[in-house]
Amino acid sequence: MYPLTIESPQNGVKKQTILIVEDNTLNMMLLNDLLEVHGYAILKTSHGAEALTMARDYHPDLILLDIQLPDISGLEVARTLKDDHETRDIPIIAVTAFAMPGDEEKALESGCDGYVAKPISVHRFLGTVRSFLSRSAP
Ligand code: MN
Repeated sequence: MYPLTIESPQNGVKKQTILIVEDNTLNMMLLNDLLEVHGYAILKTSHGAEALTMARDYHPDLILLDIQLPDISGLEVARTLKDDHETRDIPIIAVTAFAMPGDEEKALESGCDGYVAKPISVHRFLGTVRSFLSRSAP
């Protein structure tokens, strides 16, 4: 007997989509594999400017946003997305390395909805992801 809630294109249930914005290759791979294994469809970029375009074009269900990016800061990305009526409803979880005092406040002030410090705890991280996806569910 199959579980009733398999999320697959075959039974017409759309996978929830997560946009990962991360310029560190290893972190990107870890996040991608972890979330893919848990059934999410993944979009990826390592640049803030591209994150803005992808958020508008694909309207993902959730954005995981690294704060240190090579072009524009993740904080700027968050502010821009939250200023745009087309993207402001997408929940954003900030992901930061080398967490400094005040990072979480800065992320939340910039419009991020949640905050996770690297290295991530897998169990807590998945819990955070699920909690934001269920809030945005139709
Ligand atoms: Mn980075």
